[in-house]
Amino acid sequence: MIAGVERDGHPILELVLGDITQQDTDAIVNAANSSLLGGGGVDGAIHRAAGPELVARCRLLGGCRTGEAKVTPGFRLAAGWVIHTVGPVWRGGDSGEALLLASCYREALARADEVGARTISFPAISTGMYGYPAVEAAHVAVSTVLVTPTAVEVVKFVCFDRMAFDAYQNAFAELRPTE
Ligand code: ADP
Repeated sequence: MIAGVERDGHPILELVLGDITQQDTDAIVNAANSSLLGGGGVDGAIHRAAGPELVARCRLLGGCRTGEAKVTPGFRLAAGWVIHTVGPVWRGGDSGEALLLASCYREALARADEVGARTISFPAISTGMYGYPAVEAAHVAVSTVLVTPTAVEVVKFVCFDRMAFDAYQNAFAELRPTE
């Protein structure tokens, strides 16, 4: 853990620079597309690491709408569960992107609660191919997790690059509760 925020009655938030496929939290979140049949970026990395059983299971789910989340086992991953969510494509910020992105985090936590996952790792949903600006996305991610009721105890934000990491550090600093 490189940085963290802890608040009574809410998950401990952690920030790490790394590869989400290597995380041993109970669940990891996939920034999927609506087909749930695999793609590039973090989605491709998760499918490669989980093995072909993952796409076979995803085929049974009938896709996923933007802002929603569906859960599968993690198969060959260290994580027991993969929670697939579909982030919004950035269209300039006036098309409900922030509400949809917040919904991804809430829905993922709801799926984690349903399967009893107590630790979860999130990538920076929508900030790759889907073009959501990193600073705004990190703010939505951290502020949503901080106010969402959940039995999850640890939320790890896994940043693939320094730019994402810095964006989360800013969000942590802004949202850190004052004494
Ligand atoms: P989206 O289509 O939702 O934008 P992407 O996969 O293109 O999804 O990117 C989402 C974020 O995930 C980006 O910040 C990207 O750098 C990051 N990412 C890509 N591969 C990994 C990985 N293996 N672990 C963690 N984050 C990753």
